[in-house]
Amino acid sequence: MSNHDDDVVLVENPYHTARLKPVRKGKKPPKLIAVVHQSGCTGCEVCIAGCPVDSIELVSGPNPDNPGFQQMVEIDITRCIGCQNCSQDCPWETITMYQHEDCYTAWGNETLKSELYIPEVQLNQLNEDKGINLKAPEPEVEETSDEETSA
Ligand code: SF4
Ligand code: SF4
Repeated sequence: MSNHDDDVVLVENPYHTARLKPVRKGKKPPKLIAVVHQSGCTGCEVCIAGCPVDSIELVSGPNPDNPGFQQMVEIDITRCIGCQNCSQDCPWETITMYQHEDCYTAWGNETLKSELYIPEVQLNQLNEDKGINLKAPEPEVEETSDEETSA
């Protein structure tokens, strides 16, 4: 993965439409939360159909020039209700149910590509609380040509 090293995850698109989906109701989170071990995900989409709260999303593959190649999925852990359908359905056994208190660390460790997403302030809080290092996207900088800069 071009934008990944051992402890950094690039959060690609904070404005992905998945953010518009309703968040999980209730104050108490489920005991178990599903996390995809993305390096084992084939992008087969089997898990997506069985999720009752529509919390599994396809994310683009690692090559920005060919985003449809080697797609994988991610689970929005803020919407997952812990039903375990996906972990049972995955033919590659690449979804694991984690205790809620461990799921953010697992998500940070096992996520190579993410397009769902949490507000930056919540991301920063998570990094602080969980000792992980997820990164928000760098703002795009417009390239200036040599001629423009030397003029
Ligand atoms: S455990 Fe259930 S609710 Fe959570 S992502 Fe899997 S299918 Fe969806
Ligand atoms: S079923 Fe498993 S391999 Fe297929 S997309 Fe879901 S997590 Fe990936």
